[in-house]
Amino acid sequence: MIEHTKAFVDGAWVTASSGEEFAVINPASGGCIARVADLSAGDAVRAVDAAHRAQPGWAKLSARDRAGILRRWHQLILQDQDALAALITLEMGKPLAESRGEVAYGASFVEWFAEEAKRVYGQTIPAHQPSQRILVTKQPVGVVVAITPWNFPLAMITRKVSPALAAGCTVVVKPSEDTPLTALKLAQLALDAGFPPGVLNIVTGVDAPGIGHALIADTRVRKVTFTGSTAVGKILYELSAATVKKLSLELGGNAPFIVMNDADIEAAVDGAMLSKFRNAGQTCVCANRIFVQERVYSDFVARFSARVRALTVGAGDQPGVEIGPLINADGLAKVEAHLADAVARGAQIEVGGMRHSAGPLFFTPTVVSGVTPQMRMASEETFGPVAPIYRFATESEALALANDTPYGLAAYCYTRDLGRAFRMYEGLEYGIVGINTGIISTEVAPFGGVKESGLGREGGPHGIDEFLEVKYGCFDLGSQDDRV
Ligand code: ADP
Repeated sequence: MIEHTKAFVDGAWVTASSGEEFAVINPASGGCIARVADLSAGDAVRAVDAAHRAQPGWAKLSARDRAGILRRWHQLILQDQDALAALITLEMGKPLAESRGEVAYGASFVEWFAEEAKRVYGQTIPAHQPSQRILVTKQPVGVVVAITPWNFPLAMITRKVSPALAAGCTVVVKPSEDTPLTALKLAQLALDAGFPPGVLNIVTGVDAPGIGHALIADTRVRKVTFTGSTAVGKILYELSAATVKKLSLELGGNAPFIVMNDADIEAAVDGAMLSKFRNAGQTCVCANRIFVQERVYSDFVARFSARVRALTVGAGDQPGVEIGPLINADGLAKVEAHLADAVARGAQIEVGGMRHSAGPLFFTPTVVSGVTPQMRMASEETFGPVAPIYRFATESEALALANDTPYGLAAYCYTRDLGRAFRMYEGLEYGIVGINTGIISTEVAPFGGVKESGLGREGGPHGIDEFLEVKYGCFDLGSQDDRV
């Protein structure tokens, strides 16, 4: 199943100049599944050399030709859906059905931006002088660095790389050291699809700060796109200042999930299950705070708890499993710390609350009620299978509680009142609002956050703009010249 353990630079598979490798661990078993090239900061700069060499030629291709290669990549990813899904589950742990879903979701960005490549329209603007003409065109920003996390080893790469490539940029990807294998398989498929050498490069390595610093310090890199923690995002923001790079940051969230008295409770329970427990709670749009209005509070807690109790926990490659392991020991420790803090401050465990016997990184899906804003899980992202439930009385209280966070990625609200739905949509200080739905991710819509959740949007008609510069040309026509 594992074809590639070397990094991919300038169209070739390369080892680290030091010869070093690092271990990739299966979180379900704790076993080492591969040893992958551990590139240094200096090795990473060689990938920038390649991307920089390749960029003018790639940008000069017609949009149609770039789109054709992207479409072939899309087809090859879908043809290899099962193998890619198996690899995602192996190195990241999510259930196989979710991995298959991730491959389809990830591929959808490749298709979408293959289409968008052809729609990078410019403008002409009526000029301020009679003799002048004003032209506005869009050009690729240049070499892009994409730094991606482990929770969606495939989709977080395609969501960044596809619009960049469609726009005419070349890319150096630094995948998470926890999940490099999926990235390398994507590179193989990109090679098969016909991307020229240097257009897409994958730099694997454990020295993320060193590699990140070298890539961002390089003046040839004109754009950094990052998905990961807010803490690291802030470091990259600072590093980018030195060379005034364009920047997209998709950082942490603290998603509120609000259930009003007038909601369809069964639908709200369905939505909360999907929003909270997908990827064992390890997504940045996972419901992190579930607010339930007083009149339906007990009913919601009872129905939701029953569903959570029935979840099947185990290794992601086992049939019927719905909750896999956490990614690593730090992830597990955070879940336990959040829960211990909540219980110490008076919250009640309705379901779960302890580790799971499936293995050292498994945690039993948990519901905890009576949670209050003073508890740690109210202000930090738990990133695990723990659902905290808060009680509220009024619409304005729900809105104030939901917005009381420096984060602003995704929010959800269940209500059957049309006016309230719009009031909540408008009042929630979030980049994404799901009304009566717990699933909001799609390639056709702009994904991204406000406040400390980040900068920029991925997907939708807006996604490609992040990789384009606007150029304005002012043409003075002079006066009529009748010489023959
Ligand atoms: P997570 O908590 O999801 O692992 P991180 O922000 O730690 O989020 O990691 C996301 C990505 O950022 C990974 O590819 C990781 O290797 C990389 N990374 C971590 N620290 C740094 C850093 N100081 N500079 C550049 N990249 C980093």
